[in-house]
Amino acid sequence: MYFKRIDMHGFKSFAEPVSIEFNHGITCIVGPNGSGKSNISDALRWVLGEQSPKTLRGGKMEDVIFAGTASRKSRGMAEVVLVIDNSTGILPIDYSEVAITRRVFRSGESEYYINNNPCRLKDIRELIMDTGIGVDGYSLIGQGKIADIVSNKPESRREIFEEAAGIVKYRSKKAEAERK
Ligand code: ATP
Ligand code: MG
Repeated sequence: MYFKRIDMHGFKSFAEPVSIEFNHGITCIVGPNGSGKSNISDALRWVLGEQSPKTLRGGKMEDVIFAGTASRKSRGMAEVVLVIDNSTGILPIDYSEVAITRRVFRSGESEYYINNNPCRLKDIRELIMDTGIGVDGYSLIGQGKIADIVSNKPESRREIFEEAAGIVKYRSKKAEAERK
């Protein structure tokens, strides 16, 4: 399983559609300060379900929508599509390629899709649970994350091992059953 491509439209500084292809191996993104490098990792977090505007370096969710510049009008919607190669079948879905789409409108309305089928955020969460790529996973290492892990309470540290061991979905199903 690997990320094949990310498409952004109206997301933060990406007013026009931008598509970035990832190849096998390591991809480095370089560019001057303020050119949008971190906005790409924000797009990745966001499409994978991030709900905290602070983690996305904003004050409210609307801040992910292109706000306009002196020469360009603001946008009414932000959209990010992440295409994941699933030929090894790690994602529990019968497709060798999975496209996750998230949209947000200025009205506050959100839309989520898996392979162009409308779905809930919960469906996306469940799809990527235990793969390590989710917002609580260990594959997105932000600034300060390592220090957090090292200084965390043992219980929080255990959550990382549980995600790696692939048992988070059972814990989440148990918690859901107990709530009913
Ligand atoms: P650095 O090297 O300093 O880390 P960077 O390449 O990571 O820079 P980003 O933080 O990704 O840069 O991009 C910051 C730019 O994105 C700023 O110019 C900011 O104005 C712009 N930006 C962020 N949110 C929006 C938005 N909603 N609408 C328009 N522009 C935005
Ligand atoms: Mg940056």
